[in-house]
Amino acid sequence: MQTRIHPRFDGLEEVGIAEDILRSCVHCGFCNATCPTYQELGDERDGPRGRIYLIKHFLESGEAGAGTRHHLDRCLTCRSCETTCPAGVQYGRLADIGRHMIEEAAPRPLVERALRRLLRWFVPWPRRFGPLLRAGQVVRRLLPRRLRESVPERQTAGARPSRRHPRQVILLGGCVQSVATPRTNAAAARVLDRLGIEALELPGAGCCGALSHHLTATGEARDFIRRNLDAWRPALESAEAVISCSTGCGAMLKDYGFLMRDDPDYAAAASTVSAKTRDLAEVLADENLSALKVDTAAATALHCPCTLTHALRAHTALRQVLERVGVQLTATREDHLCCGSAGTYSLLQPELSQSLKARKLEALTGDAPERIVTANIGCQLHLATAARVPVRHWIEIVDGG
Ligand code: SF4
Ligand code: SF4
Repeated sequence: MQTRIHPRFDGLEEVGIAEDILRSCVHCGFCNATCPTYQELGDERDGPRGRIYLIKHFLESGEAGAGTRHHLDRCLTCRSCETTCPAGVQYGRLADIGRHMIEEAAPRPLVERALRRLLRWFVPWPRRFGPLLRAGQVVRRLLPRRLRESVPERQTAGARPSRRHPRQVILLGGCVQSVATPRTNAAAARVLDRLGIEALELPGAGCCGALSHHLTATGEARDFIRRNLDAWRPALESAEAVISCSTGCGAMLKDYGFLMRDDPDYAAAASTVSAKTRDLAEVLADENLSALKVDTAAATALHCPCTLTHALRAHTALRQVLERVGVQLTATREDHLCCGSAGTYSLLQPELSQSLKARKLEALTGDAPERIVTANIGCQLHLATAARVPVRHWIEIVDGG
């Protein structure tokens, strides 16, 4: 795709990256066929090719308005289009660059900015989010049905292993997951312990920065990244891998190297993290799993999050791990389509999010599963609000839960 970048963007590194990505697109439109928002709305501007044109127009004219932002806001950043694209267009990177620049060129109305700021102030901080969640859990039964469904039931994490192992991985504790489903990280630590691998959850680490990054608060996202890198530095060289039980966070970790490339104090550590980031399923896939056979015949539907399928590309590893340990997987449809969770998308684009959730649950439950398993806290909580069967993290099943 030929582009003529507006002179006011001359010399900007991210514009050069965007231009290269734009050039790689051959306008074929294959990507529209697997784009959830295009499938729902049928509007070219709500598909990847249309959004690419919108970003191109902005970079060429230097102008963008609320309409451009509206169509970019509706994008889930699920990256299904990247998997489909025959030309290898890095849509996710282009969308990130376009969004950040358009946010500055066409500022949002005050109410939208305030809501986004509130989400950033609240969600990535367990000390702020945790007490409210716990209060909601105490009065959960008394809440109106819609609200009750959005408050996950209280979980106990269970004991953490205390054995030390020469083999170690760094485990990102995360933010929402660590308080909403504390059993997930504990189950991962127990399963890894049984395989002779120690999961290091190092003090000082916290949110991966994805929420701030996706809400275009770049400086804040980089502060989260620096915090994590400071916490992990002592163990970074010796650890076999950096893992997260939430694939959304895993996808962000994979991007640390790119996002910190211009920071002389953190670039090297960030690129080490990206190189060592593996999904938990990939770590297990390389091990002898005979000690982990599950003792259940429960029919289980697997929902692979977009971040696992399209960003980390480890969905096959997860399916194989579950089959190897004896989980009975049911048939599902439309595995490439997003469930509509997508970080804060379910809060900022509720209508589209709800309709994608309904479509996903139908595709997951055609074979009458007794439970659904997934690999990302956002998908888990989002699907659980409407599923007729329990929705769990897969590692809990492997842990014997
Ligand atoms: S499939 Fe790839 S090359 Fe074709 S329009 Fe979509 S992004 Fe461009
Ligand atoms: S990232 Fe997902 S929602 Fe956005 S354009 Fe690509 S396929 Fe569509």
